[in-house]
Amino acid sequence: MTQGPAPRKFGFETRMVHAGHVPDSNTGARAMPIYQTTSYVFDSPDSAAQLFELKQYGNIYTRISNPTTAVLEERLASLEGATGALAVASGMAAQFVTLMTLLSPGDELVASSHLYGGTVTQLKITLQKLSIKVTLVDPHDLPAWEKAITPKTRALYGETIGNPRGSVLDLEKLVALADAHKIPLIIDNTFATPYLCRPMEHGATIVVYSATKFIGGHGSSIGGAILDSGNFDFSRFPTIAAPSPSYHDLRFFDTFGHYGFLMKARAETVRDVGACISPMNSFLLLQGLETLSLRMDRHVSNALEIARYLEQNKQVAWVAYAGLSSHPDHGLAQKYLPKGPGAVFSFGLKGEGAQVREDGKRFIESLHLFSHLANVGDVRSLVIHPASTTHQQLTEEELVACGVGSEMIRLSVGLENVEDLIWDLDQAFHALSRSTRA
Ligand SMILES: *Cc1c(COP(=O)(O)O)cnc(C)c1O
Repeated sequence: MTQGPAPRKFGFETRMVHAGHVPDSNTGARAMPIYQTTSYVFDSPDSAAQLFELKQYGNIYTRISNPTTAVLEERLASLEGATGALAVASGMAAQFVTLMTLLSPGDELVASSHLYGGTVTQLKITLQKLSIKVTLVDPHDLPAWEKAITPKTRALYGETIGNPRGSVLDLEKLVALADAHKIPLIIDNTFATPYLCRPMEHGATIVVYSATKFIGGHGSSIGGAILDSGNFDFSRFPTIAAPSPSYHDLRFFDTFGHYGFLMKARAETVRDVGACISPMNSFLLLQGLETLSLRMDRHVSNALEIARYLEQNKQVAWVAYAGLSSHPDHGLAQKYLPKGPGAVFSFGLKGEGAQVREDGKRFIESLHLFSHLANVGDVRSLVIHPASTTHQQLTEEELVACGVGSEMIRLSVGLENVEDLIWDLDQAFHALSRSTRA
C-alpha cells in the first residue's frame, strides 16, 4: 500500500483562497461559479420527501441553501475555526436570526452598551416588541454584567471592538461569566474579522458578522454570517433542545448534535424570516475573503500611522484608537488583537459646543480623499461626523450621554497611500485654522 503525505493543516492565507471549493466538475471553471437559481430539480419523489424532512442534506430552494453560498459558509467556518456557518442577507439579519433562534418571549439578554447604533435599536426596540428584555451594561464593568444576569437570561452579547470609542472586550472574563451561568456568549466580530481575532479561540460560542464591511471589503454588497463553535452544550437549552412544532416535534439538539443551533437557524428561522443572501452577493463576499489578510494588514498599518499623526496634531483633543498606548484598552488590544485593533476609530477636534460642531462639518467638507458616508470597512477611506449626521437629532446633553460629542469625527481608514491620506487630513486642518482666524 502506498501512503500519501501526512494531512496538512493549511495556514489562514491558504484557506482564505481555497477552503470549501474545488474546481467545478462539469465545466472546469476555476473561480467559484454563481449559481443564480431559485430552486433545484429533485432526483426522485422519495428523495424530495427526505430533503423536506431534513433526513437528507441537499438543495431545495435558495432561501434555505445555495451552492455558491455554501462555499462562502464553509470558507468562513474554516477561517474562524467554527463547526459551521450560515450566511444571511446582512449583519442585522445575522444578529436577528441568531437571537430569534435562541430566545423566546419572556427571555432576557445582557449586552455591552458599546454597540453599533443599529444594533442598539434592534435590541432595545424590536426585541422588546417580541417581549424579550435586553439590559445594556458598560463592557468593562464585570459586576454590572453579573448583576444584570437573571434566571431568565439566555445569552450575553458584545462587540470585539466596540463603537464609538474603540473599546476592546475582555473576552476571557465574559466567557468565564457565561460559563458560570451556562449560557452562550455571542460576539459581533465585524470590526476585527477572523484575521485579527477569533473569539472562539477564547471560548465564545457564536460569532456574527456584518460581512458588508471588511469581509467583502469593497463597499459593494450587503451580507452577514453566523458561526457556531460547536462547543456549547445545548442539550438543556430550551429553544434548541425542546421538540419543535414546525418540524413534527423534531428535537434539533438530539438530531443534529453540535449542528443543532445552525440547523434550526437555517431550516426554521431563515426559512420563516426570509433574510437569505443572494448568490451574487455570496460570490462578491467570497472574492473579498480571498484578499482579507493582505487588506487587513494594510488597513491596520495605515490606521496606526494616521492615529499617530492625529495624536501629535495641535488641533486634535483626543484620539481613541486601541493601537495607541494612550488608549485605556491598549493592553486588551495587545492580548486579543496582536495584529492590530482594526481600522475604524474616532478622534475629537479641539473646541466646544456649536463652534466645534461647525468645525466638524467644515473639516469633513474640506477632505478630498475621505468619502463622507455612513459605512466602514471599505478599500476607500471614509469619514463621518456623528453629531451632524447619524446623531443630529440629539441635544448636546444626549450626545454626551451616548459618548458622541460634537467634536467627534469617525474614520474608517482605507487602503490608499498613507502619505496621501495624511496630506488630505492636513489640508483639512489648515482649512479649519484659516476659517477660525477669519
Ligand atoms: C454594519 C454593522 C452591523 C450591521 O450590518 P449590516 O450588514 O449593515 O446589516 C452590525 N454590527 C456592526 C459592528 C456593524 O459595523
